[in-house]
Amino acid sequence: MPDSKYCPVCHAINPAGAERCECGYRFREDDNMTDRDMAVILRRRRLRRAAGSAAVVAVIAALVLLTVFAGKAVLLYVTAGLLAAGVIAAVLLKVLHELDKRKKK
Ligand SMILES: [Zn+2]
Repeated sequence: MPDSKYCPVCHAINPAGAERCECGYRFREDDNMTDRDMAVILRRRRLRRAAGSAAVVAVIAALVLLTVFAGKAVLLYVTAGLLAAGVIAAVLLKVLHELDKRKKK
């Protein structure tokens, strides 16, 4: 018996006995997951969330610093800060993705 079912539509993890996901998706036989599959999904989800949090922190830090140091010219720098945060987030996601790939081997 599998321990859980993974919804391919909304990515929710449902109990093994569930016939339908809360989003309305009806489970098929091949949506059953082993504990190992589930651990991989949960880890990926955690990594993605961590990368998202890092990006948010970078944006907030950039905004605070720019407001303190740049005063009225802040709007110009906010744009630059957001771009920088975007680049940092993209790099982080890429690194995490590479690490994830390497662990799987
Ligand atoms: Zn669902």
